[in-house]
Amino acid sequence: MLILKNYIDGQWIDSISGKRTQKFNPANREEALCEAQASVAQDVERAMSAASQAFPAWARTPVPQRAALLQQLLEKMKANETEFVRTVTLENGKILRESRAEFQSAIKEADYQIGQGRRLGGAHVPSEQPGLLAYMTRQPLGVVSLITPWNFPLNVACRKMFPALIAGNTCVLKPSDVTPMTSALLFKLLNEAGFPRGVANFVTGRGSVIGDTLVNHPSVRAISFTGSTEVGLSIAGKVAGRSTKIQLEMGGKNPLVVLADANLERAVDAAMIGAFSCSGQWCTSTSRVIVEAPVYETVVEMLTQKAKAIAVGNGLDEAARMGPVAGPDQYESILKYIEIGKREGARLCAGGHALREGHFARGYFIAPTIFADVTSAMRIAREEIFGPVLCVMKANDFEDSVCIANETIFGLASSVFTQDLAKAQRFIEESQVGLCHVNMPTAFKEPQLEFGGIKESGRGLPEAGTTGAEFFTSHKAVYLRPLS
Ligand code: NAD
Repeated sequence: MLILKNYIDGQWIDSISGKRTQKFNPANREEALCEAQASVAQDVERAMSAASQAFPAWARTPVPQRAALLQQLLEKMKANETEFVRTVTLENGKILRESRAEFQSAIKEADYQIGQGRRLGGAHVPSEQPGLLAYMTRQPLGVVSLITPWNFPLNVACRKMFPALIAGNTCVLKPSDVTPMTSALLFKLLNEAGFPRGVANFVTGRGSVIGDTLVNHPSVRAISFTGSTEVGLSIAGKVAGRSTKIQLEMGGKNPLVVLADANLERAVDAAMIGAFSCSGQWCTSTSRVIVEAPVYETVVEMLTQKAKAIAVGNGLDEAARMGPVAGPDQYESILKYIEIGKREGARLCAGGHALREGHFARGYFIAPTIFADVTSAMRIAREEIFGPVLCVMKANDFEDSVCIANETIFGLASSVFTQDLAKAQRFIEESQVGLCHVNMPTAFKEPQLEFGGIKESGRGLPEAGTTGAEFFTSHKAVYLRPLS
Protein backbone atom coordinates (compact mmCIF):
# COMPACT_ATOMS: atom_id res chain seq x y z
CA MET A 1 0.00 0.00 0.00
CA LEU A 2 1.32 3.44 -0.94
CA ILE A 3 1.66 5.58 2.20
CA LEU A 4 1.64 9.35 1.61
CA LYS A 5 3.35 11.53 4.18
CA ASN A 6 3.18 15.23 4.81
CA TYR A 7 6.08 17.28 3.44
CA ILE A 8 7.07 19.86 6.04
CA ASP A 9 10.35 21.77 6.30
CA GLY A 10 11.90 19.59 3.61
CA GLN A 11 11.06 16.33 5.44
CA TRP A 12 8.48 13.62 4.75
CA ILE A 13 6.73 13.12 8.08
CA ASP A 14 3.69 11.43 9.62
CA SER A 15 0.83 13.41 11.07
CA ILE A 16 1.00 13.76 14.82
CA SER A 17 -2.54 12.35 14.87
CA GLY A 18 -0.97 8.96 14.06
CA LYS A 19 -3.95 8.38 11.76
CA ARG A 20 -4.27 7.85 8.01
CA THR A 21 -7.20 7.81 5.59
CA GLN A 22 -7.56 5.21 2.84
CA LYS A 23 -8.28 6.41 -0.67
CA PHE A 24 -10.16 4.19 -3.13
CA ASN A 25 -10.33 4.09 -6.94
CA PRO A 26 -13.63 5.66 -8.08
CA ALA A 27 -13.76 3.15 -10.96
CA ASN A 28 -13.43 0.28 -8.49
CA ARG A 29 -14.29 0.99 -4.87
CA GLU A 30 -12.67 -2.29 -3.79
CA GLU A 31 -9.24 -1.09 -4.93
CA ALA A 32 -7.46 0.91 -2.20
CA LEU A 33 -4.95 3.25 -3.85
CA CYS A 34 -3.10 4.79 -0.93
CA GLU A 35 -3.25 5.93 2.67
CA ALA A 36 -2.81 9.67 3.29
CA GLN A 37 -2.10 11.44 6.57
CA ALA A 38 -5.24 12.43 8.47
CA SER A 39 -3.63 15.66 9.59
CA VAL A 40 -4.73 17.84 12.48
CA ALA A 41 -4.24 21.50 13.35
CA GLN A 42 -0.78 20.94 14.88
CA ASP A 43 0.51 19.53 11.58
CA VAL A 44 -0.60 22.68 9.77
CA GLU A 45 0.96 24.82 12.52
CA ARG A 46 4.27 23.02 11.98
CA ALA A 47 4.05 23.67 8.25
CA MET A 48 3.21 27.34 8.87
CA SER A 49 6.18 27.68 11.16
CA ALA A 50 8.52 26.12 8.54
CA ALA A 51 7.11 28.41 5.84
CA SER A 52 7.51 31.48 8.09
CA GLN A 53 11.14 30.68 8.80
CA ALA A 54 11.92 30.07 5.14
CA PHE A 55 10.26 33.28 3.95
CA PRO A 56 12.91 36.00 4.50
CA ALA A 57 15.65 34.13 2.60
CA TRP A 58 13.30 33.05 -0.20
CA ALA A 59 11.95 36.58 -0.59
CA ARG A 60 15.53 37.88 -0.95
CA THR A 61 16.48 35.18 -3.48
CA PRO A 62 16.73 36.87 -6.89
CA VAL A 63 13.86 36.02 -9.21
CA PRO A 64 16.09 34.27 -11.78
CA GLN A 65 17.25 31.85 -9.06
CA ARG A 66 13.68 31.19 -7.95
CA ALA A 67 12.78 30.71 -11.62
CA ALA A 68 15.66 28.26 -12.15
CA LEU A 69 14.39 26.03 -9.33
CA LEU A 70 10.83 26.16 -10.60
CA GLN A 71 12.12 25.39 -14.10
CA GLN A 72 13.87 22.31 -12.72
CA LEU A 73 10.61 21.20 -11.15
CA LEU A 74 8.87 21.76 -14.49
CA GLU A 75 11.45 19.62 -16.32
CA LYS A 76 11.00 16.85 -13.76
CA MET A 77 7.24 17.05 -14.24
CA LYS A 78 7.65 16.68 -18.01
CA ALA A 79 9.86 13.64 -17.46
CA ASN A 80 7.11 12.09 -15.31
CA GLU A 81 4.13 12.76 -17.57
CA THR A 82 3.05 9.12 -17.75
CA GLU A 83 2.99 8.76 -13.97
CA PHE A 84 1.07 12.01 -13.48
CA VAL A 85 -1.51 11.07 -16.11
CA ARG A 86 -2.06 7.62 -14.63
CA THR A 87 -2.25 8.99 -11.09
CA VAL A 88 -4.86 11.61 -12.00
CA THR A 89 -6.98 8.97 -13.74
CA LEU A 90 -6.62 6.50 -10.87
CA GLU A 91 -7.62 8.86 -8.09
CA ASN A 92 -10.05 11.18 -9.91
CA GLY A 93 -11.57 8.73 -12.44
CA LYS A 94 -11.29 10.98 -15.51
CA ILE A 95 -10.26 9.23 -18.73
CA LEU A 96 -6.59 9.16 -19.75
CA ARG A 97 -6.97 11.68 -22.57
CA GLU A 98 -8.53 14.15 -20.09
CA SER A 99 -5.68 13.56 -17.63
CA ARG A 100 -3.21 14.17 -20.48
CA ALA A 101 -4.99 17.42 -21.30
CA GLU A 102 -4.85 18.43 -17.63
CA PHE A 103 -1.13 17.64 -17.53
CA GLN A 104 -0.44 19.73 -20.66
CA SER A 105 -2.47 22.60 -19.29
CA ALA A 106 -0.59 22.46 -15.96
CA ILE A 107 2.77 22.56 -17.78
CA LYS A 108 1.76 25.51 -19.95
CA GLU A 109 0.39 27.51 -17.02
CA ALA A 110 3.42 26.78 -14.82
CA ASP A 111 5.76 27.75 -17.64
CA TYR A 112 3.90 31.01 -18.22
CA GLN A 113 3.93 31.89 -14.51
CA ILE A 114 7.69 31.28 -14.25
CA GLY A 115 8.06 33.87 -17.00
CA GLN A 116 5.72 36.21 -15.15
CA GLY A 117 8.30 36.46 -12.37
CA ARG A 118 10.55 38.38 -14.75
CA ARG A 119 7.72 40.77 -15.57
CA LEU A 120 6.63 41.47 -12.00
CA GLY A 121 8.11 44.93 -11.92
CA GLY A 122 6.11 48.10 -11.56
CA ALA A 123 6.11 51.28 -13.59
CA HIS A 124 8.51 54.17 -13.34
CA VAL A 125 6.52 57.37 -13.85
CA PRO A 126 7.61 60.99 -14.44
CA SER A 127 7.53 62.90 -11.15
CA GLU A 128 5.98 66.34 -10.64
CA GLN A 129 9.22 67.45 -8.97
CA PRO A 130 12.71 67.83 -10.45
CA GLY A 131 15.19 65.14 -9.45
CA LEU A 132 12.56 62.90 -7.82
CA LEU A 133 12.29 59.22 -8.78
CA ALA A 134 8.70 57.95 -8.61
CA TYR A 135 7.97 54.29 -9.23
CA MET A 136 5.80 51.36 -8.25
CA THR A 137 7.23 48.08 -7.11
CA ARG A 138 5.74 44.80 -5.93
CA GLN A 139 6.77 42.73 -2.94
CA PRO A 140 6.01 39.18 -1.80
CA LEU A 141 3.42 38.79 0.95
CA GLY A 142 4.83 36.06 3.20
CA VAL A 143 3.23 32.70 3.95
CA VAL A 144 0.29 31.74 1.73
CA SER A 145 -2.25 28.91 2.06
CA LEU A 146 -3.12 27.08 -1.14
CA ILE A 147 -6.29 24.96 -0.94
CA THR A 148 -7.17 22.85 -3.98
CA PRO A 149 -10.15 20.76 -5.17
CA TRP A 150 -10.25 17.20 -6.50
CA ASN A 151 -11.42 17.89 -10.03
CA PHE A 152 -8.10 19.22 -11.41
CA PRO A 153 -5.65 17.97 -8.79
CA LEU A 154 -2.53 18.86 -10.81
CA ASN A 155 -3.54 21.90 -12.81
CA VAL A 156 -5.04 23.85 -9.92
CA ALA A 157 -2.08 23.04 -7.62
CA CYS A 158 0.35 24.34 -10.27
CA ARG A 159 -1.85 27.34 -11.09
CA LYS A 160 -1.47 28.44 -7.47
CA MET A 161 1.97 27.23 -6.40
CA PHE A 162 4.10 28.41 -9.33
CA PRO A 163 2.95 32.07 -9.16
CA ALA A 164 3.05 32.07 -5.34
CA LEU A 165 6.67 30.85 -5.29
CA ILE A 166 7.98 32.86 -8.23
CA ALA A 167 6.64 36.00 -6.54
CA GLY A 168 8.77 35.21 -3.46
CA ASN A 169 6.20 33.73 -1.06
CA THR A 170 6.44 30.49 0.86
CA CYS A 171 3.44 28.19 0.96
CA VAL A 172 1.46 25.44 2.60
CA LEU A 173 -0.58 23.45 0.07
CA LYS A 174 -3.54 21.29 1.06
CA PRO A 175 -5.01 19.09 -1.66
CA SER A 176 -8.54 17.71 -1.52
CA ASP A 177 -8.68 14.56 0.58
CA VAL A 178 -10.32 12.93 -2.49
CA THR A 179 -7.12 13.36 -4.57
CA PRO A 180 -3.96 13.48 -2.42
CA MET A 181 -1.74 11.35 -4.70
CA THR A 182 -1.19 13.80 -7.55
CA SER A 183 0.06 16.62 -5.34
CA ALA A 184 2.17 14.17 -3.34
CA LEU A 185 3.88 13.29 -6.63
CA LEU A 186 4.33 16.99 -7.38
CA PHE A 187 6.02 17.48 -3.99
CA LYS A 188 8.21 14.40 -4.49
CA LEU A 189 9.63 16.13 -7.57
CA LEU A 190 9.80 19.48 -5.79
CA ASN A 191 11.91 17.80 -3.12
CA GLU A 192 14.23 16.34 -5.80
CA ALA A 193 14.52 19.74 -7.48
CA GLY A 194 16.38 21.05 -4.42
CA PHE A 195 14.19 23.85 -3.07
CA PRO A 196 15.33 25.29 0.26
CA ARG A 197 13.65 23.74 3.30
CA GLY A 198 10.27 25.14 4.25
CA VAL A 199 9.66 27.08 1.02
CA ALA A 200 6.86 24.74 -0.05
CA ASN A 201 5.00 22.48 2.37
CA PHE A 202 2.32 19.88 1.79
CA VAL A 203 -0.28 18.69 4.29
CA THR A 204 -3.12 16.25 3.59
CA GLY A 205 -6.37 15.98 5.51
CA ARG A 206 -10.00 16.92 5.65
CA GLY A 207 -11.00 20.54 5.17
CA SER A 208 -13.40 20.26 8.10
CA VAL A 209 -10.47 19.33 10.39
CA ILE A 210 -7.54 21.46 9.19
CA GLY A 211 -9.27 24.08 7.02
CA ASP A 212 -9.69 26.59 9.84
CA THR A 213 -5.97 26.49 10.71
CA LEU A 214 -5.03 27.04 7.06
CA VAL A 215 -7.36 30.05 6.99
CA ASN A 216 -6.99 31.54 10.47
CA HIS A 217 -3.31 30.98 11.29
CA PRO A 218 -1.75 34.38 12.09
CA SER A 219 1.17 33.79 9.68
CA VAL A 220 -1.13 33.50 6.67
CA ARG A 221 -0.97 36.60 4.46
CA ALA A 222 -3.03 35.23 1.55
CA ILE A 223 -5.34 32.34 0.79
CA SER A 224 -5.81 31.01 -2.70
CA PHE A 225 -8.75 28.61 -2.65
CA THR A 226 -10.49 26.68 -5.41
CA GLY A 227 -13.60 24.72 -4.55
CA SER A 228 -17.26 25.05 -3.81
CA THR A 229 -18.99 28.38 -3.36
CA GLU A 230 -20.19 27.28 0.06
CA VAL A 231 -16.70 26.70 1.46
CA GLY A 232 -15.22 29.67 -0.45
CA LEU A 233 -17.71 32.14 0.99
CA SER A 234 -17.21 30.73 4.47
CA ILE A 235 -13.47 31.50 4.09
CA ALA A 236 -14.32 35.05 2.94
CA GLY A 237 -16.41 35.48 6.10
CA LYS A 238 -13.64 34.18 8.37
CA VAL A 239 -10.99 36.59 7.05
CA ALA A 240 -13.28 39.59 6.64
CA GLY A 241 -11.80 41.45 9.61
CA ARG A 242 -8.19 40.62 8.84
CA SER A 243 -5.63 41.82 6.34
CA THR A 244 -5.42 38.39 4.67
CA LYS A 245 -5.82 38.58 0.90
CA ILE A 246 -8.20 36.11 -0.71
CA GLN A 247 -8.44 34.60 -4.15
CA LEU A 248 -11.51 32.37 -4.29
CA GLU A 249 -12.31 30.36 -7.41
CA MET A 250 -15.70 28.79 -6.82
CA GLY A 251 -18.66 27.11 -8.49
CA GLY A 252 -20.45 27.75 -11.77
CA LYS A 253 -23.68 27.10 -13.66
CA ASN A 254 -22.34 27.90 -17.08
CA PRO A 255 -24.65 28.64 -20.02
CA LEU A 256 -24.02 27.91 -23.69
CA VAL A 257 -26.44 29.83 -25.90
CA VAL A 258 -27.38 28.47 -29.34
CA LEU A 259 -29.01 31.05 -31.60
CA ALA A 260 -31.12 30.04 -34.60
CA ASP A 261 -28.42 31.03 -37.11
CA ALA A 262 -25.66 28.99 -35.42
CA ASN A 263 -23.72 26.15 -36.96
CA LEU A 264 -25.67 23.52 -35.01
CA GLU A 265 -23.14 20.69 -35.42
CA ARG A 266 -20.42 22.82 -33.88
CA ALA A 267 -22.67 24.14 -31.14
CA VAL A 268 -23.79 20.66 -30.15
CA ASP A 269 -20.22 19.32 -30.21
CA ALA A 270 -19.10 22.17 -27.94
CA ALA A 271 -22.02 21.54 -25.58
CA MET A 272 -21.13 17.84 -25.41
CA ILE A 273 -17.48 18.62 -24.62
CA GLY A 274 -18.54 21.11 -21.98
CA ALA A 275 -21.19 18.92 -20.40
CA PHE A 276 -19.60 15.48 -20.32
CA SER A 277 -15.79 15.89 -20.31
CA CYS A 278 -14.48 14.88 -16.89
CA SER A 279 -18.01 13.57 -16.24
CA GLY A 280 -19.21 17.17 -16.05
CA GLN A 281 -16.96 17.89 -13.08
CA TRP A 282 -15.34 21.10 -14.37
CA CYS A 283 -16.03 24.43 -12.80
CA THR A 284 -16.40 25.69 -16.40
CA SER A 285 -18.61 22.76 -17.52
CA THR A 286 -21.58 23.59 -19.70
CA SER A 287 -24.51 22.88 -17.43
CA ARG A 288 -27.23 24.83 -19.26
CA VAL A 289 -27.75 24.90 -23.03
CA ILE A 290 -30.12 27.73 -23.91
CA VAL A 291 -31.56 27.34 -27.39
CA GLU A 292 -33.53 29.80 -29.52
CA ALA A 293 -37.03 28.46 -30.22
CA PRO A 294 -36.79 27.75 -34.00
CA VAL A 295 -33.93 25.25 -33.55
CA TYR A 296 -34.83 24.04 -30.05
CA GLU A 297 -36.22 20.56 -30.85
CA THR A 298 -33.46 19.91 -33.41
CA VAL A 299 -30.77 20.70 -30.84
CA VAL A 300 -32.47 18.60 -28.13
CA GLU A 301 -32.57 15.66 -30.54
CA MET A 302 -28.92 16.08 -31.60
CA LEU A 303 -27.75 16.32 -27.98
CA THR A 304 -29.81 13.30 -26.99
CA GLN A 305 -28.37 11.11 -29.76
CA LYS A 306 -24.81 12.11 -28.92
CA ALA A 307 -25.26 11.62 -25.18
CA LYS A 308 -26.65 8.13 -25.71
CA ALA A 309 -23.59 7.25 -27.83
CA ILE A 310 -20.97 8.15 -25.19
CA ALA A 311 -18.93 5.09 -24.20
CA VAL A 312 -18.71 5.17 -20.40
CA GLY A 313 -15.94 3.12 -18.79
CA ASN A 314 -12.90 2.88 -16.56
CA GLY A 315 -10.70 5.91 -17.23
CA LEU A 316 -7.68 3.65 -17.78
CA ASP A 317 -9.44 2.10 -20.80
CA GLU A 318 -8.38 4.14 -23.86
CA ALA A 319 -11.72 3.33 -25.52
CA ALA A 320 -13.74 5.00 -22.76
CA ARG A 321 -15.10 8.48 -23.51
CA MET A 322 -16.39 9.23 -20.02
CA GLY A 323 -15.17 7.87 -16.69
CA PRO A 324 -16.84 7.49 -13.32
CA VAL A 325 -17.57 10.45 -11.05
CA ALA A 326 -14.95 11.19 -8.42
CA GLY A 327 -16.29 9.35 -5.39
CA PRO A 328 -19.23 8.35 -3.22
CA ASP A 329 -20.24 11.87 -2.13
CA GLN A 330 -20.32 13.11 -5.73
CA TYR A 331 -22.23 10.01 -6.82
CA GLU A 332 -24.95 10.45 -4.20
CA SER A 333 -25.23 14.17 -4.81
CA ILE A 334 -25.54 13.86 -8.62
CA LEU A 335 -28.10 11.04 -8.40
CA LYS A 336 -30.09 13.17 -5.94
CA TYR A 337 -30.18 16.02 -8.46
CA ILE A 338 -31.29 13.65 -11.22
CA GLU A 339 -34.27 12.64 -9.06
CA ILE A 340 -34.98 16.32 -8.32
CA GLY A 341 -35.01 17.02 -12.07
CA LYS A 342 -37.50 14.23 -12.67
CA ARG A 343 -39.73 15.46 -9.83
CA GLU A 344 -39.55 19.05 -11.08
CA GLY A 345 -41.06 17.93 -14.39
CA ALA A 346 -38.07 18.34 -16.72
CA ARG A 347 -38.23 16.07 -19.80
CA LEU A 348 -35.65 13.25 -19.40
CA CYS A 349 -34.13 12.64 -22.86
CA ALA A 350 -31.04 10.55 -22.05
CA GLY A 351 -29.58 8.74 -19.03
CA GLY A 352 -31.15 9.66 -15.72
CA HIS A 353 -29.71 6.76 -13.75
CA ALA A 354 -26.59 5.16 -12.31
CA LEU A 355 -24.81 2.39 -14.23
CA ARG A 356 -24.59 -0.63 -11.95
CA GLU A 357 -24.37 -3.71 -14.15
CA GLY A 358 -21.32 -5.78 -15.14
CA HIS A 359 -18.00 -3.90 -15.03
CA PHE A 360 -19.80 -0.80 -13.71
CA ALA A 361 -20.84 -2.62 -10.53
CA ARG A 362 -17.87 -1.59 -8.38
CA GLY A 363 -17.49 2.02 -9.55
CA TYR A 364 -19.31 5.34 -9.36
CA PHE A 365 -20.66 5.44 -12.92
CA ILE A 366 -23.60 7.57 -14.02
CA ALA A 367 -25.18 7.59 -17.49
CA PRO A 368 -24.75 10.87 -19.44
CA THR A 369 -28.01 12.64 -18.67
CA ILE A 370 -29.99 15.23 -20.61
CA PHE A 371 -33.01 17.07 -19.29
CA ALA A 372 -34.99 19.23 -21.76
CA ASP A 373 -37.74 21.79 -21.08
CA VAL A 374 -35.86 22.98 -18.00
CA THR A 375 -36.97 26.36 -16.64
CA SER A 376 -35.07 28.88 -14.52
CA ALA A 377 -37.36 28.15 -11.58
CA MET A 378 -36.10 24.56 -11.32
CA ARG A 379 -33.36 23.69 -8.87
CA ILE A 380 -31.49 21.74 -11.57
CA ALA A 381 -31.18 25.03 -13.48
CA ARG A 382 -30.09 27.05 -10.46
CA GLU A 383 -27.79 24.82 -8.40
CA GLU A 384 -24.39 23.46 -9.41
CA ILE A 385 -24.83 19.72 -10.01
CA PHE A 386 -21.17 19.11 -10.91
CA GLY A 387 -21.81 15.89 -12.81
CA PRO A 388 -22.78 14.52 -16.24
CA VAL A 389 -26.17 16.23 -16.30
CA LEU A 390 -27.07 18.80 -18.97
CA CYS A 391 -30.13 21.04 -18.75
CA VAL A 392 -31.62 22.28 -22.05
CA MET A 393 -33.75 25.44 -21.90
CA LYS A 394 -35.83 27.18 -24.58
CA ALA A 395 -35.43 30.91 -25.28
CA ASN A 396 -37.94 32.97 -27.27
CA ASP A 397 -35.27 35.14 -28.89
CA PHE A 398 -31.76 36.56 -28.38
CA GLU A 399 -32.80 38.93 -25.56
CA ASP A 400 -34.55 36.11 -23.73
CA SER A 401 -31.49 33.85 -24.09
CA VAL A 402 -29.20 36.46 -22.49
CA CYS A 403 -31.72 36.99 -19.72
CA ILE A 404 -31.88 33.23 -18.96
CA ALA A 405 -28.08 32.94 -19.19
CA ASN A 406 -27.68 35.63 -16.52
CA GLU A 407 -30.45 34.27 -14.27
CA THR A 408 -28.01 32.66 -11.85
CA ILE A 409 -26.01 33.56 -8.77
CA PHE A 410 -22.89 32.24 -10.56
CA GLY A 411 -20.72 34.11 -13.07
CA LEU A 412 -17.90 31.89 -14.23
CA ALA A 413 -18.06 31.01 -17.96
CA SER A 414 -20.46 31.35 -20.89
CA SER A 415 -20.57 30.88 -24.63
CA VAL A 416 -22.76 31.93 -27.54
CA PHE A 417 -23.03 30.17 -30.88
CA THR A 418 -24.06 32.50 -33.69
CA GLN A 419 -22.84 33.81 -37.03
CA ASP A 420 -24.19 37.28 -36.27
CA LEU A 421 -21.27 39.43 -35.13
CA ALA A 422 -23.53 42.13 -33.69
CA LYS A 423 -25.32 39.60 -31.45
CA ALA A 424 -22.01 38.04 -30.45
CA GLN A 425 -20.74 41.48 -29.46
CA ARG A 426 -23.87 42.20 -27.41
CA PHE A 427 -23.54 38.84 -25.70
CA ILE A 428 -19.94 39.62 -24.75
CA GLU A 429 -21.10 42.93 -23.26
CA GLU A 430 -24.11 41.58 -21.38
CA SER A 431 -23.03 38.11 -20.23
CA GLN A 432 -22.23 38.31 -16.49
CA VAL A 433 -19.15 36.09 -16.35
CA GLY A 434 -15.39 36.10 -15.95
CA LEU A 435 -14.78 33.99 -19.08
CA CYS A 436 -16.82 34.61 -22.21
CA HIS A 437 -16.66 32.63 -25.46
CA VAL A 438 -18.06 32.95 -28.97
CA ASN A 439 -18.47 29.74 -30.97
CA MET A 440 -16.25 27.94 -28.42
CA PRO A 441 -16.83 25.48 -25.55
CA THR A 442 -17.42 27.17 -22.18
CA ALA A 443 -14.37 25.42 -20.68
CA PHE A 444 -11.80 26.75 -23.17
CA LYS A 445 -8.92 28.74 -21.67
CA GLU A 446 -5.32 29.74 -22.35
CA PRO A 447 -2.64 30.41 -19.69
CA GLN A 448 -1.87 34.00 -20.69
CA LEU A 449 -5.37 35.24 -19.84
CA GLU A 450 -6.86 35.56 -16.38
CA PHE A 451 -9.06 32.72 -15.14
CA GLY A 452 -11.74 33.44 -12.58
CA GLY A 453 -15.40 34.18 -12.06
CA ILE A 454 -17.55 37.06 -10.89
CA LYS A 455 -20.77 37.06 -8.81
CA GLU A 456 -20.74 33.98 -6.51
CA SER A 457 -18.10 32.26 -8.66
CA GLY A 458 -15.12 34.31 -7.58
CA ARG A 459 -13.57 36.79 -5.20
CA GLY A 460 -10.26 38.61 -5.42
CA LEU A 461 -7.86 38.83 -8.33
CA PRO A 462 -8.28 35.98 -10.82
CA GLU A 463 -5.70 33.22 -11.26
CA ALA A 464 -3.43 32.73 -14.30
CA GLY A 465 -2.53 35.48 -16.77
CA THR A 466 -0.90 38.58 -15.34
CA THR A 467 -2.89 38.65 -12.10
CA GLY A 468 -1.87 35.05 -11.25
CA ALA A 469 1.41 36.21 -9.73
CA GLU A 470 0.28 39.76 -8.97
CA PHE A 471 -2.22 38.41 -6.43
CA PHE A 472 0.67 37.06 -4.37
CA THR A 473 2.27 40.49 -4.03
CA SER A 474 1.57 43.81 -2.38
CA HIS A 475 2.21 47.12 -4.11
CA LYS A 476 4.55 49.83 -2.93
CA ALA A 477 4.69 53.30 -4.44
CA VAL A 478 8.20 54.73 -4.00
CA TYR A 479 9.26 58.41 -4.05
CA LEU A 480 13.05 58.68 -3.97
CA ARG A 481 15.04 61.90 -3.83
CA PRO A 482 18.65 60.85 -4.46
CA LEU A 483 20.12 63.86 -2.63
CA SER A 484 19.02 65.14 0.78
P1 NAD B 1 -14.80 21.78 -1.72
O1 NAD B 1 -15.21 23.19 -1.46
O2 NAD B 1 -15.54 20.70 -1.04
O3 NAD B 1 -13.27 21.56 -1.34
C1 NAD B 1 -12.24 22.34 -1.91
C2 NAD B 1 -11.03 22.31 -0.98
O4 NAD B 1 -11.39 23.01 0.22
C3 NAD B 1 -10.61 20.91 -0.54
O5 NAD B 1 -9.22 20.85 -0.40
C4 NAD B 1 -11.28 20.77 0.81
O6 NAD B 1 -10.67 19.83 1.65
C5 NAD B 1 -11.11 22.18 1.34
N1 NAD B 1 -12.04 22.53 2.42
C6 NAD B 1 -13.22 21.96 2.74
N2 NAD B 1 -13.76 22.58 3.82
C7 NAD B 1 -12.89 23.57 4.17
C8 NAD B 1 -12.89 24.55 5.18
N3 NAD B 1 -13.88 24.65 6.06
N4 NAD B 1 -11.84 25.41 5.25
C9 NAD B 1 -10.83 25.35 4.36
N5 NAD B 1 -10.78 24.42 3.37
C10 NAD B 1 -11.79 23.54 3.28
O7 NAD B 1 -14.81 21.61 -3.32
P2 NAD B 1 -14.53 20.28 -4.16
O8 NAD B 1 -15.72 19.39 -4.00
O9 NAD B 1 -13.18 19.75 -3.82
O10 NAD B 1 -14.45 20.84 -5.65
C11 NAD B 1 -15.56 21.05 -6.45
C12 NAD B 1 -15.94 22.51 -6.46
O11 NAD B 1 -14.82 23.28 -6.89
C13 NAD B 1 -17.04 22.83 -7.44
O12 NAD B 1 -17.95 23.72 -6.84
C14 NAD B 1 -16.32 23.52 -8.59
O13 NAD B 1 -17.12 24.39 -9.35
C15 NAD B 1 -15.24 24.22 -7.87
N6 NAD B 1 -14.12 24.54 -8.76
C16 NAD B 1 -13.95 25.84 -9.15
C17 NAD B 1 -12.92 26.17 -10.02
C18 NAD B 1 -12.73 27.60 -10.46
O14 NAD B 1 -11.65 27.91 -10.95
N7 NAD B 1 -13.70 28.48 -10.30
C19 NAD B 1 -12.06 25.19 -10.50
C20 NAD B 1 -12.25 23.86 -10.07
C21 NAD B 1 -13.30 23.56 -9.19
